[in-house]
Amino acid sequence: MSADLDRPAGTSGVGRAPAVPGPAHRPVPARSRSVGDLVHSDRQHLWHPYASTTTPATVHVVRDAEGAQLNLEWLDADGATHRGWVVDAMASWWCMLHGYRHPVIVEALERQAAELPHVMFGGLTHEPAIRLGELLAQLAPGDLNRVFLADSGSVSVEVALKMARQYDIALSRKQGGRRSPRTRIAALRGAYHGDTLGAMSVSDPDTGMHAMYAGAIPPQVFLPRPPVWDALPDEVTAWVDDATGRLRAVRDEVCAVIVEPVLQGAGGMYAWSPRALTALREVTHELGMLLIADEIATGFGRTGEMWGCDHAGVVPDIMTVGKSMTGGSLTQAAVIATEDVAHTVSEYTGALMHGPTFMGNPLACAASLASIGLLRDDGWLHGVATVHDAFVEQAARFAGAPGVRDFRVCGASATLEFFRNVDIALATRIGLEHGVWFRPFGRMVYSLPPYICSRDDIARICSAMSAIAEQMLPR
Ligand SMILES: *Cc1c(COP(=O)(O)O)cnc(C)c1O
Repeated sequence: MSADLDRPAGTSGVGRAPAVPGPAHRPVPARSRSVGDLVHSDRQHLWHPYASTTTPATVHVVRDAEGAQLNLEWLDADGATHRGWVVDAMASWWCMLHGYRHPVIVEALERQAAELPHVMFGGLTHEPAIRLGELLAQLAPGDLNRVFLADSGSVSVEVALKMARQYDIALSRKQGGRRSPRTRIAALRGAYHGDTLGAMSVSDPDTGMHAMYAGAIPPQVFLPRPPVWDALPDEVTAWVDDATGRLRAVRDEVCAVIVEPVLQGAGGMYAWSPRALTALREVTHELGMLLIADEIATGFGRTGEMWGCDHAGVVPDIMTVGKSMTGGSLTQAAVIATEDVAHTVSEYTGALMHGPTFMGNPLACAASLASIGLLRDDGWLHGVATVHDAFVEQAARFAGAPGVRDFRVCGASATLEFFRNVDIALATRIGLEHGVWFRPFGRMVYSLPPYICSRDDIARICSAMSAIAEQMLPR
């Protein structure tokens, strides 16, 4: 372990004091149980995401968190204890935009917890939800106006898919019921839309994480992955022609197309051509299909625009948002639909049959209001641009590096892709030795850090990526 793991890593929290609080600045929270005891009990009782209980991976105990950093304690394979402050290159899976324990979000949560932490949303309403509805409608592209609050990203995708199907039932009734409603959805190869059954059905069936459920989930229609971000016009045209042909062929079955606008996330960190998205909007209009934009990962500035759709100037019919909505403090998501979708569904089919128990949770609404407020007040574009530019500055170190297929930057995200699968345990350990927390997958080590990261934080993340690249070489 490198010696500096005992000290906070680098500087974080641009312009905010204390910039790097560590053990020296803040008393270590009281704790009575040793890391060994905690890890042992974790293994006895908990089931971690995408994990086996019989061959458990190393778990790292979070002892503290501040700004862009986590204070972790863990045991290595020999049972030795390690502890240190590390930069969270993952922003807790895209969420922690303003860093951990941001005072504005903490205060909003404390105030709301004292007032009204939860109340059911059926038949009741409250000011935090109403204000959040206003804000999201104002922030969303074009005429997206009708907000359905959900409790997680996957649930919001389920709701969006149900809305789309119900819209088509409504349309067919409106047209006198002469055709049967279209029930299928088209999605892109390489997509990831969540882990529930409906969301899995529109995620890539082969490279996705659910190949073994084939047969148990509704078969959907998949379009080839669109060409890359900076593809030549000819490549885009060829893809558009092909996709249009495929959609025409299923126009009597498919009611909507769902995409992650311009950046596919968990399906491979793949930035695709905004012009392909513009074309998809035109084709869906022409064929009378809805366009669902899943902005759960791309939303709230991550790609360099407020919404991924903004790169293409596209307004979808339904949009899902989540992940970073509360600034990473609580779980909340939303489905935002046009008034046409909301009106048609309501007029011809009655109610939208969905209602999560924790829908519109006031604590989560208060956190979302605080986080979105911070994005606006602090000039979100500035933080995103700083992170983006710092990643671009570092790109040269990966050019032509042996074993490295690609280093790509999209907004405030960077992906180092290798020619072969990453040894996750090894890459995680090397990251930690260099003061950085990663969660690699497949052939990729990637980062979507908090927007408050400094250039030094980004340099540290890239040094850690370099160190992983060196270790990846066959020896
Ligand atoms: C993470 C993610 C989801 C699922 O959200 P959860 O909150 O994990 O259920 C759906 N779509 C996209 C694009 C995502 O990145």
